[in-house]
Amino acid sequence: IQSGELSKMQKTSGKLFVISGPSGVGKGTIIHKLLEKNPNIKLSISATTRAPRPHETDGVDYYFISRDNFTKLIKEDKLAEWAEFSGNYYGTYYDTINNTLQNGYDLILEIEVKGAMQIKNKIPSAVLIFILPPSFDELQKRLTGRNTEKTEEIKQRLAIFEDEYAKSFEFNYKITNDNLDEATEELQKIISREKQN
Ligand code: 5GP
Repeated sequence: IQSGELSKMQKTSGKLFVISGPSGVGKGTIIHKLLEKNPNIKLSISATTRAPRPHETDGVDYYFISRDNFTKLIKEDKLAEWAEFSGNYYGTYYDTINNTLQNGYDLILEIEVKGAMQIKNKIPSAVLIFILPPSFDELQKRLTGRNTEKTEEIKQRLAIFEDEYAKSFEFNYKITNDNLDEATEELQKIISREKQN
């Protein structure tokens, strides 16, 4: 199924949710808490050219692929969206969206803002949610504290957030992650409400 047919398909199947937000805001944790309570919601596994972090597994966290293979995916039109983020490529497989929604599951794409905008254009029924930190200082603290990126990489990711924040106004919802349980609850409510529409 190609892009034009995706929006048509959305009417008869699961719903697509796009969640964006800066590195270190806690999106991953919020989404995983949500998934534990909602067996009908799946999380899309993206392709990336980034190297795996120590605790990450290929085929679980991402499909870790080479730049050559990523370029091939683009050429063969296998990706519903893709973007470069901090020197690496990330993309969502059309097949994941098609198969998951057709099987009646809802799907979450946890992607950065340029990709979110591509999905918004291709699939207008997708619901876009942006997760915000309580403050820029707090974000900096969390990103430094999790110890997965080097100082330069952290600086770059904070700079990206400033750009992404400007685009967050195009999202349907914004959630501030001040408290993990409350933010998860808020996301749960948004999803339940959107499911009724
Ligand atoms: P990380 O390297 O921290 O895992 O991810 C970096 C950024 O890339 C995050 O904002 C994450 O949401 C985003 N990302 C992950 N997968 C995809 C994808 O398939 N497409 C796009 N556009 N962004 C992605």
